[in-house]
Amino acid sequence: MSEIAVCDVVVVGAGPAGAATAAYLAGHGVDVVLLDKAEFPRAKACGDGLTPRAVKQLVRLGVDISDEKAWPRNQGLRVYGGRYQLDTEALEIPWPELIGFPAYGLVKRREEFDNLLVSYAVSKGARFISGVTVEAALVENGRVVGVQAAGETKQTFRAAVVVAADGAASRVAKSLGVEADRRKPMGVAVRGRYQSPRAGESWMESWLELRDAKGGLLPGYGWVFPEGGGSCNVGLGVLQAGDVNVRKLLGQWLEGLPVQWQFDDVHLEGHLASAALPMCLNRGVLYKHGLLFVGDSAGMVSPFNGEGIAYALEAASFAAAAIVDAKARGFGTPSAEQSLRGYGIRVHEEWVGYFQLGRVFAALIGKPEIMRICTRYGLPHPSLMRFTMKLLAHLFDRSGGDWMDRVISYATKAASLTAATTPRPRGQKG
Ligand SMILES: Cc1cc2nc3c(=O)[nH]c(=O)nc-3n(C[C@H](O)[C@H](O)[C@H](O)COP(=O)(O)OP(=O)(O)OC[C@H]3O[C@@H](n4cnc5c(N)ncnc54)[C@H](O)[C@@H]3O)c2cc1C
Repeated sequence: MSEIAVCDVVVVGAGPAGAATAAYLAGHGVDVVLLDKAEFPRAKACGDGLTPRAVKQLVRLGVDISDEKAWPRNQGLRVYGGRYQLDTEALEIPWPELIGFPAYGLVKRREEFDNLLVSYAVSKGARFISGVTVEAALVENGRVVGVQAAGETKQTFRAAVVVAADGAASRVAKSLGVEADRRKPMGVAVRGRYQSPRAGESWMESWLELRDAKGGLLPGYGWVFPEGGGSCNVGLGVLQAGDVNVRKLLGQWLEGLPVQWQFDDVHLEGHLASAALPMCLNRGVLYKHGLLFVGDSAGMVSPFNGEGIAYALEAASFAAAAIVDAKARGFGTPSAEQSLRGYGIRVHEEWVGYFQLGRVFAALIGKPEIMRICTRYGLPHPSLMRFTMKLLAHLFDRSGGDWMDRVISYATKAASLTAATTPRPRGQKG
């Protein structure tokens, strides 16, 4: 038996990318159905960290983050590495004061955060249906006209536009043969939550050098994000993971940290969780024949710091703007098609230079000896570190800023010129 539902837009996946897209669309009077295979609230492997870039997007979306008890704020990054080790003081770099971004970050558990965004989308008028696993895009005459869900009833959702926000493993993309570009960096990360006396601290910690209990250097970078409420989110990520076992690596790193921090099995809440970090727009496609890719499905994680939520939220606003315009022009018309194509162009304009720089960065930090030189000689210089933080967290003013902002702006502009699409190697579609 097959059931059919019809709407303007169907959004597959109710993570930050999908929920925000649905909220923006519903807020503009678009009839949107938001689907997720999971029942909410659901857990997600994540560091739960929201930089000022993500905070800005939450404010834009209209989410109320004013209650500082529910949304405890952090003031910047505390960095370990090079000269700054456990037995010395770490380097503390406050979030920069900028025209374009607030000077605080947040940490929010993903089960809460994602559930809240979904409720927000529903409050705007989106129809949320959980427990629906989408199997494939529905294609007619070369155009995506909906999605087909798994299960006994084989539900079909027909729509003028489909948004794939179904995460790194995007089933929708796979059903169309749109594969990730293997030349782009791909990371993998793992996190645990630990009951810790450090839970109330107001810095997000970044560990640029990881060492085991004997002082041996380990691959990857780590984080400690205090979540308030008694626990810290602690994890690490590696680029181009190959066959690295990130869970084992996390154990080795945590063994070398002070016992009183309680990052051990006894104080672990639930289980460790790991997942892929698809970076630098590695899907290669943002819009295709009625289908938009938003968030991890498009590979929107930053290669500089592993952040994906801010980009998912920002892309959601670009996608929704293009769809709202398309609806006003008349879905199915050539003019509407131009508007939808504009989504991909907008994303490229905003980020492609930055991500291009990130590819160089990713290649460099893949070489431990270069990373060691950078942390040893770069970290002792606070102004160089402030510069590095602005670059890594993508926090600079494109105009009206200081010399650091201008240097990063020029560098990203120059990099965008070199980012002209190169043909994929044989055998890779998309
Ligand atoms: C260990 C780890 C730590 C991280 N830490 C941070 C961090 O601190 N800060 C940060 O900004 N980013 C972090 N990231 C990256 C961040 O988690 C992602 O970039 C972000 O979740 C992307 O959001 P999304 O909505 O695109 O995808 P997701 O959050 O993955 O959501 C996709 C949704 O689609 C649903 N879905 C999937 N397939 C189907 C299907 N076939 N049918 C229906 N529904 C489907 C899923 O159930 C899910 O709800 C981290 C990632 C990892 C792995």
